Amino acid sequence: MRCKEEDDNLLEEEEEEEVGVARPVQIVVSDEEEHSFWLQEEVLERLLLQEEVQDLHVVVVSVAGAFRKGKSFLLDFMLRYMYKQSSGSWIGGEEEPLTGFTWRGGCERETTGILAWSEVFVVNKPDGSKVAVLLIDTQGAFDSQSTIKDCATLFALSTMTSSVQVTIVSSSQLFTEYGRLAMEEVYEKPFQTLMFLIRDWSYPYEHSYGLEGGQSFLEKRLQVKQNQHEELQNVRKHIHSCFSNISCFLLPHPGLKVATNPHFDGRLRDIDEEFKKELVNLVPTLLSPENLVEKEIGGVKITCRDLLHYFKAYMKIYQG
Ligand code: GDP
Ligand code: MG
Repeated sequence: MRCKEEDDNLLEEEEEEEVGVARPVQIVVSDEEEHSFWLQEEVLERLLLQEEVQDLHVVVVSVAGAFRKGKSFLLDFMLRYMYKQSSGSWIGGEEEPLTGFTWRGGCERETTGILAWSEVFVVNKPDGSKVAVLLIDTQGAFDSQSTIKDCATLFALSTMTSSVQVTIVSSSQLFTEYGRLAMEEVYEKPFQTLMFLIRDWSYPYEHSYGLEGGQSFLEKRLQVKQNQHEELQNVRKHIHSCFSNISCFLLPHPGLKVATNPHFDGRLRDIDEEFKKELVNLVPTLLSPENLVEKEIGGVKITCRDLLHYFKAYMKIYQG
């Protein structure tokens, strides 16, 4: 379905491309009706073969989750950090609307697939090395039964091609996506860093907000107990054997304006203090130069150019 604003946005996008303004670009398209998906090879080539980045080791940070989970919202703050990281106050002004991955105009296209930010960031790590940082938005329809298989595939593709995957879930859904992943054949392991980002956490007195509370919550939930359902036990064991590093971050509710006001445009003034406090910790945990995790395959760091080949190879595996 299309609406007028969307067409206007598309026009704007085309104009923007001419002047080289950064924007989200779709690298994997999935067609739910056809139960198929494909790689936008030219887009990916343009992205990864840019002169300044093609030979640099690549850091791929992917935010994954179902529709309306707050992926764009988080990614837009990650963009602010990437663009302003030299200065202390990256989070932005009180009245500044969020821009980036956010789709404005009230008629968001609910396409599933993988988007990338068209600008690949070059960052100097404290050890003197230079890395290329790619920000990725993985959107699946995790809630509809008919698409579970397509979605598991999309999700697996994103897991394999990222070095850090942030999965936004609610506390009751902690392992559902990975349960599906576990049912798929796993070709390469271990994967690298997985962070469960639990939104709207409302039990800070049991496990405090942030990384530490998240860690204790995760440990509790990952315990394999004798009396658990076997399938659940297997998912838990499987997750441990797949990822070299699993963490969990508990994020408070952002406030009613964010969650329910259709005119909310991302400005800080409308976001709860508690949420902003945690956001200020979360984003550098993922993206500060010393925390960046390079993508490795078989224990070897890969470049942007290598990543292009891996995308193509993984795609072939999945298209069988
Ligand atoms: P996406 O579809 O996953 O990219 O989700 P969006 O970033 O577009 O956000 C969907 C809606 O959820 C918007 O109205 C946001 O303002 C709101 N939102 C963003 N983050 C959160 C959160 O942590 N909790 C709640 N309850 N709402 C959020
Ligand atoms: Mg989005």
